[in-house]
Amino acid sequence: MFKPNAIYYEKNIENYILGQELMKKYEDVPKIEIDNHNNIEEMRKKENKEFAIMKKNLIIGVRKTHKFVENHKVSDYLVPYTSSGCTASCMYCYLVCNYNKCAYLRLFVNREEMLDKIIKTAEKSDKDLTFEIGSNSDLVLENTITNNLVWTINNFKDTNKGKLTFPTKFDMVDDLLPLEHKGKIIVRMSVNPEEIIDKVEFGTSRLDGRINAINKLKDAGYEIGILIAPVIFLENWKELYLELIKKLEAELSNEVKKDVFFEVIFMTYSYIHTKINEEAFPNAINLYNKDIMTGRGKGKYWYKEEIRKQGKEFFRENLKKYFKDNKIIYIV
Ligand code: SF4
Repeated sequence: MFKPNAIYYEKNIENYILGQELMKKYEDVPKIEIDNHNNIEEMRKKENKEFAIMKKNLIIGVRKTHKFVENHKVSDYLVPYTSSGCTASCMYCYLVCNYNKCAYLRLFVNREEMLDKIIKTAEKSDKDLTFEIGSNSDLVLENTITNNLVWTINNFKDTNKGKLTFPTKFDMVDDLLPLEHKGKIIVRMSVNPEEIIDKVEFGTSRLDGRINAINKLKDAGYEIGILIAPVIFLENWKELYLELIKKLEAELSNEVKKDVFFEVIFMTYSYIHTKINEEAFPNAINLYNKDIMTGRGKGKYWYKEEIRKQGKEFFRENLKKYFKDNKIIYIV
């Protein structure tokens, strides 16, 4: 169970039920009042090497930005929801890049307002929309602190239209299993070979736990997707990912294998990641490989065309071989 070193909070969170609950839950944790969760001067001044320690704090505020961004993959809209950042430290986490050093976990207590906007947008639309609520954080992890996923599913299940989806790298799903969700929730489990989880995805659940969580969620009636993401082209990548696909085939239940869908995403990286990681995790592997990566906009890198082409062929071929009836939504 995550116990923060300190809580940085905006004064007005006390006007919200969740704000009051969290202040009570952590009454023995030191508290620092802040004006704005987006701009905590003390945090901005921290050295890169303090990155992991910084993530042991919890920031609690009110979300002011509620802009939906159109999306054309599993969901129709990316929606800012109840948290941003995370207590784990995956070395490639894109939140690091977007928010630089403030990738620590921020919780937003105005959940009623955020869910209400989703419900109204769903009801106004002609088509049945799907909303991605987990693009800024990991909601399964967040749920262990706030119970927000349970609250969300309970308050969304009886609405007339729309679905919610979120990705996760965590296995703490037991609280979701008894819920009545009425088929309105798509859980997408993100997986990587155990060696990559070990060397790169610090603080997340192990592969066995994630596979077990998928099977349990499917038994509880949830629609399931698997994200093989991000694919990291280490020297032995073919061996690692083939082993992963075979393990999924062997250990996922028949129910899951009936209709699980796949998304495959290749890693992108950045100069900021390199700087933070070499100072915060000096003994970790270096994910930047100049021989197979190339620039993609200012300070950003992705894999060269030739590697991506090989990756696409590899995943198409092997997913087809081991999951012949399952859909691959995209490989990017
Ligand atoms: S679990 Fe997700 S949000 Fe958390 S550090 Fe890893 S990639 Fe980022």
